[in-house]
Amino acid sequence: MDRNYRYLLLDMDMTLLDFKKSEKYAFAGVMESLGLRFTEYDHSRFSHVNEELWKRLEKGLINRGQLLATRFGIFSEEWGVDPARLNEMFIKNLAARDDKLPGAEDFLKALKACGKYRIYIATNGPVFTVMGRINASDLAKYADGIYISEKIGASKPDPAFFEYIFADLGDHDTSHYLMIGDRLSSDIKGANNAGMDCVLFAHDGIFPEDIQGYSINYFAGSYKELQDLLEVP
Ligand SMILES: [Mg+2]
Repeated sequence: MDRNYRYLLLDMDMTLLDFKKSEKYAFAGVMESLGLRFTEYDHSRFSHVNEELWKRLEKGLINRGQLLATRFGIFSEEWGVDPARLNEMFIKNLAARDDKLPGAEDFLKALKACGKYRIYIATNGPVFTVMGRINASDLAKYADGIYISEKIGASKPDPAFFEYIFADLGDHDTSHYLMIGDRLSSDIKGANNAGMDCVLFAHDGIFPEDIQGYSINYFAGSYKELQDLLEVP
């Protein structure tokens, strides 16, 4: 790497924490609380709806309130429970989950120990669930700061999300920043929009198939590759 990045902006979900696992258990917990038997079918339906709503949010087609209000819509009808209550139960369960991706903590430890970069977590999400999960997984100690879309008032890939960070760190030179994340529509598009470099990270080595239209500076298919790329011993 021939650039001198000072600040690493690390995405949280599926970059450090295993959102898919946390989502599944949080959802299963809702069903259990209601005395319903958890099925993979219900979970996959919820996961699909939630994912589609997040995509719409990233495109600016809906706001956060609409996302939170509608993601339990079909289940609310089927189970006869108020969707706001379902969402509340889900969020409470999610906030307690500590599912780290395997290798994430060792990576952060090495990154912190080498002292080459200032480390920030930059994530979309509600403050309550993000901070709950970061505290539960004990990751805050590795980061110099945590930026959360709900608090900022803008979500990745909106340039306003990144401009808030540049202003907060008092450094508007985008060549000092490197965004690292798994998601094209938020992390990579956001970095492209904000004029900063980026790494497309795939913890399991499986990259998205269609990367057309995105400008990607680096690819890392494991924490080891990411560590090598960042020249972290
Ligand atoms: Mg992610």
